[in-house]
Amino acid sequence: MDTDVIVIGGGLSGLALADQLQRAGVAYQVLEARARFGGRIKAAYVGGAGFDLGPSWFWPGQPRMAAMVERFGLKVFDQYANGTLSFEDEAGAVHRDVGFSSMEGSYRIAGGITALIDPLVSGLDQRNIMTDAVVSAIHEADGVAVELQSGVTIKGKRAILALPPRVAAELRYEPELPSLAIKAMRLVPTWMGGQAKFVAVYDRPFWREDGLSGDAMSRHGPLVEIHDATDPNTGLGALFGFVGIPAHMRHGHSEAVKSAAIEQLGRLFGKQALSPKEIFYQDWAQQVETASDLDFDPVSEHPHYGLPASLSGLWGKRLHMGSTEIATQFGGYLEGALEVAEHLAQDLIADR
Ligand SMILES: Cc1cc2nc3c(=O)[nH]c(=O)nc-3n(C[C@H](O)[C@H](O)[C@H](O)COP(=O)(O)OP(=O)(O)OC[C@H]3O[C@@H](n4cnc5c(N)ncnc54)[C@H](O)[C@@H]3O)c2cc1C
Repeated sequence: MDTDVIVIGGGLSGLALADQLQRAGVAYQVLEARARFGGRIKAAYVGGAGFDLGPSWFWPGQPRMAAMVERFGLKVFDQYANGTLSFEDEAGAVHRDVGFSSMEGSYRIAGGITALIDPLVSGLDQRNIMTDAVVSAIHEADGVAVELQSGVTIKGKRAILALPPRVAAELRYEPELPSLAIKAMRLVPTWMGGQAKFVAVYDRPFWREDGLSGDAMSRHGPLVEIHDATDPNTGLGALFGFVGIPAHMRHGHSEAVKSAAIEQLGRLFGKQALSPKEIFYQDWAQQVETASDLDFDPVSEHPHYGLPASLSGLWGKRLHMGSTEIATQFGGYLEGALEVAEHLAQDLIADR
């Protein structure tokens, strides 16, 4: 046996679980497919400032996020909400004074949400975490044997699928999981998995000088919802927006989406918006480590998450689901990733 718990996926759920196992003295190995940790948490960096390409916010009433930012001494600040929201109608005409910031009261973390990931990763025993470790199959044989695409096999007592259920459904299981279990995995939408985010960085948040909050809603597009993403440390201004074009239609057209997004920012925020210092575009739907084709269809409202009965007690409790989508209370959110990690850690530590 190489270890006790094999954690498949080094996003917030997997890392937070590893952190708790380590503190309880339980042996673990984290296997992460990408070349970086964090999963859906990712930032682009300009002049020392981090701009979120995945999640940006957490909210009051999320105790585990609050405890984690305090533990790591991170600087939390309010989403910028002064000034008016801009609204763009179907014809691209801009209307002002139609409302206020829709994300007022949300919290951001200075440096980006990745500021959570860095200390989590550096606090783990570096021998027990691995990037570029793409899991392809899991075998149940006197414990579990997890097979990597590279051909390496790692053996443990239990395995945790700390990755979106639809992504987990693509792995090979031996013996096969009941068809109901695979079906249940495919039914769970990956939260925000079908989204794409566009970020434009500027020398300063010039829109604020015109009394604009940086918030905008649009029926014209390509961005449907825009917010201020200014970095508080460097003062570099930034606007980010969610792309409203469905995943299958925007695929292969990223350059056109980017040019149209800059033009749109120009319509909404003036000429200065046409000359960003840097732009970034992240299409999460095209990332096989995050989304499956099933996530191409956008979800219209927040799904009701939690652990489906057919996914509980797999392989006699040797295999556990472990991403945010399984959380009962905060499923889909960062807080949900921590909720799942906390509950799994309690069970695994008790079962040791
Ligand atoms: C655009 C966007 C905006 C969002 N905004 C917010 C927000 O403002 N607030 C909020 O609370 N939440 C938000 N979310 C959701 C938030 O990002 C998630 O709740 C959280 O990051 C989920 O963490 P996780 O560890 O459960 O899953 P993931 O981050 O998806 O981690 C799964 C990990 O498994 C790895 N993996 C996949 N396949 C394999 C394999 N075969 N072998 C090994 N490893 C594998 C992946 O690379 C990944 O690192 C947003 C998400 C997106 C995409």
